[in-house]
Amino acid sequence: MSSSYVFPVRDVVGLPVAGADAQFPVRRVYCVGRNYAGHAREMGSDPDREPPFFFCKPGDDAAIVPAKPGRVTELPYPPQTSNYHYECELVVAIGKGGRDIPVEQARQHIYGYAVGFDMTRRDLQGQMKEAGRPWEVGKAFDYSAPIGLIHRAEDVPGIEQASIALSVDGQVRQSSSIAHLIWSLSETIANLSTLWELQPGDLVFSGTPEGVGAVRRGQTLVGEIAGLTPLVVKIV
Ligand code: MN
Repeated sequence: MSSSYVFPVRDVVGLPVAGADAQFPVRRVYCVGRNYAGHAREMGSDPDREPPFFFCKPGDDAAIVPAKPGRVTELPYPPQTSNYHYECELVVAIGKGGRDIPVEQARQHIYGYAVGFDMTRRDLQGQMKEAGRPWEVGKAFDYSAPIGLIHRAEDVPGIEQASIALSVDGQVRQSSSIAHLIWSLSETIANLSTLWELQPGDLVFSGTPEGVGAVRRGQTLVGEIAGLTPLVVKIV
């Protein structure tokens, strides 16, 4: 097998892990759409338990912005949008792969958790939705996935009932609980693993509660999930 390439290969993205020297190497980034009833309503959908649906973001070092623990992470305002939205979400870090994972065993596949923002060019996403086209331009752009410190699952046993909140310049905009997810973390992993074989290093953005909105350059976003290190991002 050849070990040389025609140009230098970029490293995988490594996310810092609380209390560990080694980093979590990212493979893929899956995202769940409309997983809180309040958010489904604000996006104009009926929040019944329709099966979960998924989209992806790139897992590379252009899309993913690992937060620097204890510091403000700068996030460049993206091009081609005038309606740039935050979505604060619990990110599940997969440590053990599998396919057709039963709901009861899903937890065994979780390495840890972090706070993440599913940043969205809402105007472009809306245009694509209306035209029945894919969402990538709205969701999968550069710097679209800032992610905080990963905490190992055994260190945050109460995560499925944790509070989740996001503030913009000190004003609370999103405030809910992981317990309000339409599809639980285990149900989401089980369903996702029927569509793709999960691998160690995969991340799953589990969905955002109601209260999404636009941000401008100069504003600071703080995402908090009880038990996890907050994610602090400034739009530049
Ligand atoms: Mn989202």
